[in-house]
Amino acid sequence: MTRVAIVGGGASGFAAAITVARAGKAFQVTVYERLQKPLKKILATGNGRCNLSNANLCRNDYFGDTEFAQSVLTRFSPQSNLEFFASMGLLTKTEELGRVYPLSGQAASVREALLAEAARLGVQIRTDCDITEIQPKHGGFLLNGQYACDKLILCAGGSAAPKHGTDGSAFRLLESLSIPVKTPAPALTALMCADFPKALKGVRQTCFVRLFCDNREVCSVQGEVQFTDYGLSGIPIMQLSRLVSVKPNSDFTVTLDCLPQMTETNLTDFLKKEAVRGEKTAGALLLGILPQALGNAVLLACHILKDTPGRALSVQSWHALARTVKSYTFRISGVRGFDFAQVTAGGADCTAFDPHTMRAKQYPNLYVCGETLNVDGGCGGYNLQWAWSSGRAAGEDIIKEQFVC
Ligand SMILES: Cc1cc2nc3c(=O)[nH]c(=O)nc-3n(C[C@H](O)[C@H](O)[C@H](O)COP(=O)(O)OP(=O)(O)OC[C@H]3O[C@@H](n4cnc5c(N)ncnc54)[C@H](O)[C@@H]3O)c2cc1C
Repeated sequence: MTRVAIVGGGASGFAAAITVARAGKAFQVTVYERLQKPLKKILATGNGRCNLSNANLCRNDYFGDTEFAQSVLTRFSPQSNLEFFASMGLLTKTEELGRVYPLSGQAASVREALLAEAARLGVQIRTDCDITEIQPKHGGFLLNGQYACDKLILCAGGSAAPKHGTDGSAFRLLESLSIPVKTPAPALTALMCADFPKALKGVRQTCFVRLFCDNREVCSVQGEVQFTDYGLSGIPIMQLSRLVSVKPNSDFTVTLDCLPQMTETNLTDFLKKEAVRGEKTAGALLLGILPQALGNAVLLACHILKDTPGRALSVQSWHALARTVKSYTFRISGVRGFDFAQVTAGGADCTAFDPHTMRAKQYPNLYVCGETLNVDGGCGGYNLQWAWSSGRAAGEDIIKEQFVC
């Protein structure tokens, strides 16, 4: 019997465990999980709904060692992973932008399906078991000096969201085996801004967001921006955060077009007409088109008092107002750290692994999957897709090898 140890009871760990255990009694599969309960992070994904894959997946949705990821993402495609879940009785629905969720709308269903299938197959799950040492022994490995295995699949995640058990321990374990790790950085996180108007906290506005690095535009995206007490958040901001995170010594600014549906000229004309027609103050003028706190912040940025009668505004003031609404600019002072990030940029250097099987070149019985590898995706189900696919690829390689023998 081949003893297969899986370090990390998260998404990729369960995908690997179920894949191997389905091959039958020739394998004894044990998952070692440091937390009290496995799959804790899954409950937090997709705001409790678990965006488990993306039907529109393409190459550009991934970062890091993207070339490495292609073969596995093609073989274990979104469709293939949905069939994997359907085989456990979990059905899914595809929503806007190809985002796939469980049909129940609850992340807990995904967790329950994986737990039930693992239990049905006799996968052993050791919880409260923090693996701190991996020792190569007799061709296999000895974990923490006491758990022996023939095959080891390391699925211990990255450094993002340590409250869900992932504090970078996977990287320390790999470095102890002399496997190179590219410096981890937080991704899919919020941006902190210098001199941010605290009164904006709580505002949500659909904006066209442009990111500038050293005065050069590097990326743009549209979506709902959330204003917080430290800076900017929301999906479009999280999508941009990776670029800021991996270049900590560069100068970044974000420019928000707070009214993408109007041109600057149309906006200026609208404001002028409204001021004359309605005898409105500057503050009241913006009330008709922007959330109040955002309008007030725009006035402040233009040094205009909100009680100023609209008719009294100078031509320069009209233009300044319209320009600020269309390109409200914030200097970025940094990204929110791993505690707030959804994923890790960086990780195990993929050149040390076979891209079809996730097997380490240096250790033929070691596999590494999921976020531990230097592959990360954008917002939209891409990271879980990678976790399921890479976990299944490692599992299938172990089964195949046994079959060939
Ligand atoms: C709040 C939040 C929301 C997210 N939402 C989505 C989403 O909707 N869609 C999406 O695609 N992605 C989402 N992600 C990202 C996604 O959850 C991860 O990329 C994915 O879970 C990574 O899978 P993994 O198997 O590599 O690691 P994980 O799922 O992180 O699992 C790693 C497991 O290993 C355990 N572990 C770590 N070290 C050890 C050790 N030394 N010994 C034993 N056990 C150990 C951990 O406790 C953990 O259970 C979200 C992340 C967060 C934090």
